[in-house]
Amino acid sequence: MQTALSKNRVFRFAPSPNGLLHLGHALSAILNHDLAAACGGRFLLRMEDIDPARSRPEFEAAIYRDLAWLGLDWEKPVRRQSEHLAFYGAALERLKAMGVLYPGFLSRGEVRARVLAQEAAGGVWPRDPDGAPLYPTEERSLDRDRALGWIAAGRQHAWRLDMEKALALVPEALSWSEAGEGPEGETGTVAARPERWGDVILSRPDAPASYHLAVVLDDAAQGITDVVRGQDLFHATAVHRLLQSLLGLPAPSYRHHGLVPGPDGRKLSKSNEDTGLTAYRERGVSPAGIRALLAGYGFVLH
Ligand code: GLU
Repeated sequence: MQTALSKNRVFRFAPSPNGLLHLGHALSAILNHDLAAACGGRFLLRMEDIDPARSRPEFEAAIYRDLAWLGLDWEKPVRRQSEHLAFYGAALERLKAMGVLYPGFLSRGEVRARVLAQEAAGGVWPRDPDGAPLYPTEERSLDRDRALGWIAAGRQHAWRLDMEKALALVPEALSWSEAGEGPEGETGTVAARPERWGDVILSRPDAPASYHLAVVLDDAAQGITDVVRGQDLFHATAVHRLLQSLLGLPAPSYRHHGLVPGPDGRKLSKSNEDTGLTAYRERGVSPAGIRALLAGYGFVLH
């Protein structure tokens, strides 16, 4: 149904410039671009360059070059997350004032040591949907003054969401509208279960806003109505819905697409240069050839 309202739809492709784009990115970018074009909506590009240690200008330049080569065009100027740190910082302060954040001081290695000790004793440590161990919940009750003293003394820490307190502030059960599907075929109205992620990081000294925080703030700031992205981010949507609810942000609708398999059947990665778009181009594959490759994997392009 192409109603007048659909002209107000806003799509975005939001790559992180920490590597070269591969076929999976091409699929996301093409779907967003074509769905926007089909309904007369807008197509935006956002550089998720929030992590200064991993983002590089040469990858950003390669993203523009590869997307232009694919024949896509996007609205300018491009939003770059590194230019909006104060905006994310203000939201972080709001969440602190709501009492749903706490500073976590354990390193990944220290968490791993606790996990190993518990597992060696026959216990089971809860893990998130990506398989990473959850942060120990007893760290929520660290004495606040002591923690602030450690921060003042320069001790490394990350601001984490106290999942229990956050969920207690959310008025009703969270869900989202899924036009694609999750890894288990979930579609339609999907119940969000952010508690599966435990106390997620929202800010670290080296990356002032985590992916989760920046993505929901930017989607709202840019008026995104439709988030179209890979299924690897399907479960993360639960955390996004929770943050949207806490911060009073609108919920876009979501469409998660299947992942393009790598040559060895594994997930495509930015470090595998053979499946990068640049490599396809250099081997003489045309943009139409990229679309044909994707269609060959069974993806329906509009
Ligand atoms: N920046 C994320 C990535 O490159 C995608 C974020 C999103 O589409 O929500 O994986």
